[in-house]
Amino acid sequence: MAYWFQRAWIDNRWQHDVRLTVAEGRISALEVGVGATPSDERHAAALPGLCNVHSHGFQRGMAGLSERRSRPNDNFWSWREIMYRFLDRLTPEDVAAITAQAYLEMLEGGFTRVGEFHYLHHDPAGAPYADPAAMAEAIVEASTATGIGLTLLPVFYAHGNFGGAAPSHGQRRFLSNVDGFASLLDASRSKLVGDANMGIAPHSLRAVAPDQLAALLAMSPTGPVHIHAAEQEKEVADCVAWSGARPVAWLLDNADVDARWCLIHSTHLDAGEVARLAASGAVAGLCPITEANLGDGIFPASDYLVADGRFGIGTDSNILIDAAGELRALEYSQRLAHRARAMLAGDAAPFVGANLYTRALVGGAQALGVEAGFAIGQPADIVSLDLTHPSFAGTNDATLLDRWIFAGGAGTIDCVWRAGIKRVDGGRHVDRTAIAAAYRKSVERIVA
Ligand code: ZN
Repeated sequence: MAYWFQRAWIDNRWQHDVRLTVAEGRISALEVGVGATPSDERHAAALPGLCNVHSHGFQRGMAGLSERRSRPNDNFWSWREIMYRFLDRLTPEDVAAITAQAYLEMLEGGFTRVGEFHYLHHDPAGAPYADPAAMAEAIVEASTATGIGLTLLPVFYAHGNFGGAAPSHGQRRFLSNVDGFASLLDASRSKLVGDANMGIAPHSLRAVAPDQLAALLAMSPTGPVHIHAAEQEKEVADCVAWSGARPVAWLLDNADVDARWCLIHSTHLDAGEVARLAASGAVAGLCPITEANLGDGIFPASDYLVADGRFGIGTDSNILIDAAGELRALEYSQRLAHRARAMLAGDAAPFVGANLYTRALVGGAQALGVEAGFAIGQPADIVSLDLTHPSFAGTNDATLLDRWIFAGGAGTIDCVWRAGIKRVDGGRHVDRTAIAAAYRKSVERIVA
């Protein structure tokens, strides 16, 4: 099968009259500056799909259910209580149905692979299921049903706070010891299909003691390592009280953080941490829409990009799923903080949209342990834009991505292919009706 595009984003720029040939889900030929043949399927503009580096799929089911004032200080910690109550009722069937809706929306929103930070392992009483990877299987089912690429990140969670504090009742479905986690990893790996891959996710320094972190890294010497870090000011203060160091500094000092690491959020960094995280080669996993929704704070993105730090974007709580929207929220957070415009551009990359897209594409792929961009041998993960949309009127190469990110958004995505299969057509996932019906049934029962 061959596709011809007026424009395709190759090697960080638009190239014209591009023909992609796809065989067995991968790009087998890539020609630039050629005409279409009569049998080619033709489209206007092709972007390589982005990796979504951080998702908790089931949280899509509680989107919009925690926006009400309920106490003097509604914050991340009060939101977390609502989230714990929501997940109390979830079965593996619910997780499959809700996560499938989230993954469908990711494909419609421009993501073609997701890193699922998977911590809901056990039954509602906190006991392992007969199959300890029953929940991992539900996530794999959601990825298969929708077609999105999957990087499964099973989470290790043992403690309620720094210093080995006992976990709370609300955390009983997440908990493992090191031996149990090794079994869980093996069982989870056996569920993977297609080009799905796997890493590990020590949840956070709150939930994982230093000796446990060392054991996990020894257990998984290659592949992605994801950890929540410095999302909350209270977490930073608690970490300093425990260790004398801030969370990101502690990790950089104690954990050989390198290019396989993705530090999710990294919101609260001092200047030294910004420079050291950038120099480590690790990816900062930024989730700007969720971080705004939860009132987490503002990542120092402009300083971090000056230091040439790597980042990927994630939809985290899945309150709203839109790749362009995440990049827009990231730029706007800097504009509001600094009262200036075009913050996340540079002298060599003056257009914000192109700079953000390029960096999120490369950093996101690194974080999920895959290659980025259109190239021979790569999975055919393609997002086409509808250039007849008014947002693109009179567009040119320089401004096209700015128009998509700042003015067009998810509504201007036309088709999405994942591993060569067209999953979104005319902006709609081809199985949206059935997936949405199953989602509605699960959520209506849970919130009843
Ligand atoms: Zn998270």
